[in-house]
Amino acid sequence: MYSDVVNELSMASQAVYEELCATLFADTGIDTEYIRSGLLMMDEYDRYEAIDWMAVHKVNAEKHPQGALFTAVAQVRNPRLLKALKSDILKRGVEIVEFSKVEELIVEKDKVLGVKTEHKNYYGDNSIICGGAWSSALLDIKMKCIQSRGR
Ligand SMILES: Cc1cc2nc3c(=O)[nH]c(=O)nc-3n(C[C@H](O)[C@H](O)[C@H](O)COP(=O)(O)OP(=O)(O)OC[C@H]3O[C@@H](n4cnc5c(N)ncnc54)[C@H](O)[C@@H]3O)c2cc1C
Repeated sequence: MYSDVVNELSMASQAVYEELCATLFADTGIDTEYIRSGLLMMDEYDRYEAIDWMAVHKVNAEKHPQGALFTAVAQVRNPRLLKALKSDILKRGVEIVEFSKVEELIVEKDKVLGVKTEHKNYYGDNSIICGGAWSSALLDIKMKCIQSRGR
């Protein structure tokens, strides 16, 4: 069972993925292989907690000989999704700097002005940290950056 914030994020992204993948295909010609295959839950789907969770989040599952089939769940082919996203943002004129470690944030008067890398400094109006599990090393907020099981 995930926390509410993870559920909220997951459901919001599930709602837009099909359209995102269709738009990426139209714009780049790369098929991310979005397939609404469903998710077969083979255990614990009939526990009270699971039934409550499904009611609260308005999630439906179909009866299946081996468990419960969550028909709305889809999958994408990860390397293809990344290829499509990269192609799309390059077309939009975004510059991607690869293989360049951000060593620290450049902060002045409590405002992040940019990042310091081993090669050069980059400045911008806004900085978004998406360093995954390593984000807390840059943000120095170890207690706030938590790992979440699986996806
Ligand atoms: C074994 C395994 C299997 C998984 N299977 C699935 C699955 O089937 N489906 C699913 O939905 N999820 C799966 N996940 C979870 C999924 O991979 C993560 O939730 C997801 O990748 C997190 O994305 P992110 O962009 O937050 O971080 P990441 O994908 O971790 O990206 C962070 C990036 O930041 C870079 N970085 C970090 N620090 C710095 C720095 N200082 N300077 C520059 N770059 C930096 C890293 O190199 C990395 O490229 C799996 C995870 C694991 C470990």
